[in-house]
Amino acid sequence: MTTDRHEARAALLAYLERLSDNGARVPCREVDVPERSIWTSDDPEDQELAARLCVGCAGVKACDAYGLAWPKEAGVYGGRTDLERRKAATTPREAA
Ligand code: SF4
Repeated sequence: MTTDRHEARAALLAYLERLSDNGARVPCREVDVPERSIWTSDDPEDQELAARLCVGCAGVKACDAYGLAWPKEAGVYGGRTDLERRKAATTPREAA
């Protein structure tokens, strides 16, 4: 992944658009999700609902990688709230 956040975000969005265009399921891009803004809401309850709706997303792996690489980015990425991503980014990994 690139070290430039804007470049990384543009690459992620382009990837998610390709998935959607090819018929893959990307819940935050689906027009029939009534409250699409819950993915970018500051409200923890909105974000928890959005994170649950990420289940089954075709782009979850790439989205999660982006969200962990840029933990200060607001909102839900990869099925994690921004609080969960920030905790994961600061928690040392266990030795294998
Ligand atoms: S995993 Fe990422 S791309 Fe998929 S629905 Fe959740 S926020 Fe959207």
